[in-house]
Amino acid sequence: MTETKSYETIAANVAAVRENMRQAALQAGRDPEEITLVAATKVQTSQTIRNAIQAGITVCGENRVQELVAHLEDDAYAGARVHFIGHLQTNKVKFVVGKVDMIESIDSQRLMDAVEKQAAKVGVVQDILLEVNIGQEESKGGAKREEILTLARHAAQCPHLRLRGLMCIPPATATEEENRGFFQETYQLFVDMKEKLGDNVSNIDCLSMGMSGDYPLAIAGGSTMVRVGTALFGARPPWHPQG
Ligand SMILES: *Cc1c(COP(=O)(O)O)cnc(C)c1O
Repeated sequence: MTETKSYETIAANVAAVRENMRQAALQAGRDPEEITLVAATKVQTSQTIRNAIQAGITVCGENRVQELVAHLEDDAYAGARVHFIGHLQTNKVKFVVGKVDMIESIDSQRLMDAVEKQAAKVGVVQDILLEVNIGQEESKGGAKREEILTLARHAAQCPHLRLRGLMCIPPATATEEENRGFFQETYQLFVDMKEKLGDNVSNIDCLSMGMSGDYPLAIAGGSTMVRVGTALFGARPPWHPQG
C-alpha cells in the first residue's frame, strides 16, 4: 500500500491522460469513444480508488488477488467495473471469477478450465481476454502467440466463458520502435483470431494494450483498452508481481 492520492491530483491526471488518448485516437483516424481507460490500481488504497472513481474512472484493473479481495470488502469499486489484470493461479480463481467484470490474463488451457469450472459453479458467464506473451520472454506470463488460436477455440467451447479479445504486456525494456512492432503483431493476432473463429466472433471487441509509457503508441496500433497506473497515481514503491 502507498499513501492515498487526493481527488484533485487524480482528477488532473485523468484529464491529462484522457486528452492524450483523444489526441492519439484522432491522429490515428479513430473514434476516441472506442478506447477505454482502465486505472491500474495496484498498491493503491481503497480511498485512492474511490477518489479515482469520483474523478471519472469507470474501470479499475487489479493485479493481485489479495488486494482485490480487500478492496471488494471495502466496497472501494462502487460505481466502476473491475478487471483482473495480474497473474492468476488456478487455486485462487474462486476469489476472482464472478467478482470481476473481466479477467484479462488467461494464458493457459489449465487456467481456462479452472475459470470455466468456477463460473459454472457460481452460475455466471465470465468475460475473459487471452494474454499473449508478445515479447516471448521466458519469465513472463502470457501464452505463446502460436498457442492463441487453440486457446481461443477452446474458450469458444466453454459455456461459462465469453472470450472478448486479447491483452499483451510488451517487455519493459522495449524501445519505442520495438513496442510499435509488438503492438502491430498483437493487433494482427487479434484480427486473425476473429477471422478464424468465424461465427463465434460477435463478442470479440477488446484489445487491451498500452500502459503509462506507451499508451498513445498502443492506441495508434489499434488498442481499445489502455491500462494506466503511474500516469494517474504517480510512481509506485517497489512491488513484486508474484508475491
Ligand atoms: C501495473 C500494470 C499496468 C500499469 O502500469 P503503469 O506503467 O504504471 O501505467 C498495466 N498493466 C498491468 C498488467 C500492470 O500490472
